[in-house]
Amino acid sequence: ELAKFRQRGPFEWVMPATGRMRVPGVIYASRDLIEAMDEKVAEQVANVASLPGIVGASYAMPDAHWGYGFPIGGVAAFDADEGGVVSAGGVGFDISCGVRTLHTGLKLADVEAAKARLADVLYARIPAGIGSTGALRLSAAGLDAMLHGGARWAVKEGYGSEADLARIEESGCVAGADPSAVSDMAKKRQRDEMGTLGSGNHYLEVQVVEAVFDTAIAQAYGLAVGDVVVSIHCGSRGLGHQIGTDYLREMVIAAPAGIALPDRELACAPLKSKLGQRYLGAMRAGINCALANRQILTHLARAAFADVFPRVRLPLLYDVSHNTCKEEMHRVGEERRRLFVHRKGATRAFGPGHAELPREFREAGQPVLIGGSMGTASWILAGAAGTEERAFGSACHGAGRAMSRHEALRRWHGRNVVDELAARGILIRSPSFRGVAEEAPLAYKDVGAVVEAAEQAGLAVKVARLKPLVCVKG
Ligand code: 5GP
Ligand code: MN
Ligand code: MN
Repeated sequence: ELAKFRQRGPFEWVMPATGRMRVPGVIYASRDLIEAMDEKVAEQVANVASLPGIVGASYAMPDAHWGYGFPIGGVAAFDADEGGVVSAGGVGFDISCGVRTLHTGLKLADVEAAKARLADVLYARIPAGIGSTGALRLSAAGLDAMLHGGARWAVKEGYGSEADLARIEESGCVAGADPSAVSDMAKKRQRDEMGTLGSGNHYLEVQVVEAVFDTAIAQAYGLAVGDVVVSIHCGSRGLGHQIGTDYLREMVIAAPAGIALPDRELACAPLKSKLGQRYLGAMRAGINCALANRQILTHLARAAFADVFPRVRLPLLYDVSHNTCKEEMHRVGEERRRLFVHRKGATRAFGPGHAELPREFREAGQPVLIGGSMGTASWILAGAAGTEERAFGSACHGAGRAMSRHEALRRWHGRNVVDELAARGILIRSPSFRGVAEEAPLAYKDVGAVVEAAEQAGLAVKVARLKPLVCVKG
């Protein structure tokens, strides 16, 4: 399938629309990345291109790898007026999984002097791992308020401040959430999971800015070499997963006549159908849950830092999600159209001048927060000018897996990974050695090559490279 992609630019590969495809497929990647890419990505990009109402093209980002139905690293936009659909598999199970990065005001030397203690305090304060629960218990009414209010609700409950909200996508709360469309099972799973990191690839990491690539943007973001930051990667926990499971099942069962799916994992519903609308309402509740969750985790991280550095505050740089379907206006040819943009393992990356951005970032473009791995670099990019025409204002979200978890488990032992990283000055704290092995740095693609491709393809601009110091892993 990858052979069907023809090179259109050094970092752009196009599969013309043939057969059932309604639009072309486009992969943004270097030759090396595309040659190493999972064959399934091409097939999945082509499958997505066959869905009704898709606009422009079916895209994959340079970190793309195989996913459920849609590739992880996939972007696709649909027009409701042209029979467009919404797909639970096109959002992903961890609804609104995302990354936020906080400033600490500390320099590397400050943190090096207290690193082990900081790691221990963070690990003690941040609930991590499968089935971990938080200190918060929500009543039914409290849960609904959270699903409506997102990070805005969390701030009202005393987690963080109003100033945080301005630095969150959608100001911390997406409109149109419908808690009544969320099953009791999903709600039950979330009652005691607020303020928890979850397992696997989710992390809270203390990082140092190792290099700056665009001084003007770095300055606008308040970043300089030697600055220590904290990044939190997690999503909507059990609630989001259950919403995904519930609606995927419904979408399979309701499969409307007239939508012939090349793959049952692409189950979807017309945006204008009752089911499509209910899913959007539930998914938006899931987004608010993730935003609230990251807000509470921020509060816990602040408390942990205060234990070690009493005078330090942790203002938010930015919070952006990478598993969503969002209603946005986009220029398509000569028109401006209202589209439903699925980004699954893809980060929103609005370019300079976008009205959605906080005023202080308007000129620089949106911060794009990219995980790498616990042993390599992570990155802060900025949405590039012209990214809207390339992938509806989107960029990569990480390094992307280079191998399955299973394969990683075969190759590495968690304890060795922790020891080797400790020898390099990177402290890992995790309840699960198995999880650490699955997430070993070499299980991921070369994040440097991925962000280089994102930049060369015109999706985002490199701003700063971060090196891990402490990683609390789920
Ligand atoms: P995903 O959202 O697809 O689960 O993961 C996003 C990205 O996070 C992955 O593609 C990977 O590059 C990155 N990542 C996974 N584990 C870690 C970690 O422990 N630390 C950092 N900095 N990045 C990670
Ligand atoms: Mn994620
Ligand atoms: Mn996630």
